[in-house]
Amino acid sequence: MPSSSSIPWFDNFVGVAYRYYDLRMNVVPLFDDRKKASDIWHDTIHWWLDSSIKIRFVETSDEYWFILGSDSQRPENNFSFFKVLQKSENYDRFKKGHGGEAYLRLGVYAKKSRKDVKKDALCDCSHTAEDHDEGDNDSCLYEKCNCKQFSSFLVTLLKRKKTISDIVFLDEKNVKDDALAWNCLNFNKYSKSD
Ligand SMILES: [Zn+2]
Ligand SMILES: [Zn+2]
Repeated sequence: MPSSSSIPWFDNFVGVAYRYYDLRMNVVPLFDDRKKASDIWHDTIHWWLDSSIKIRFVETSDEYWFILGSDSQRPENNFSFFKVLQKSENYDRFKKGHGGEAYLRLGVYAKKSRKDVKKDALCDCSHTAEDHDEGDNDSCLYEKCNCKQFSSFLVTLLKRKKTISDIVFLDEKNVKDDALAWNCLNFNKYSKSD
């Protein structure tokens, strides 16, 4: 049995951000807890060899599977990431713009209320914090907007990074051509259909 198929799968993270930072696209698995993110870096990703890190994106209609794995110098602590995500503008931007190389970083995702942000921070409704009522209910002041409460999120990137140069986009029908993507879908999708 190839060793890659015995590496456990991990999907206990909140999502993935794609950001320009340090002149390169960054792929950023997101956690809602900083301690958890740094533990995962120290215990697992730190031991990955840059040259063996692989990212696979398997597209299924408007969703995609994010798959990330590597050989490790500490195989007993190793696992591979996967997550089924909605396609987004940032995902498309990454797909078109990565140029064959990206940095891998972990990020911490925090929901912010109006009091936590600057005046010009954008709400999910697309209007700024300043445009929201400062009273008890911080609803949006734009007449045509029905936003009842300012809400926004902030992503903090952790400093440490690895370089990924093995990045492949696949359609689900081609998934058998790629060992990592096939292992992932076979284990997490096809063998779990009830
Ligand atoms: Zn709003
Ligand atoms: Zn609004």
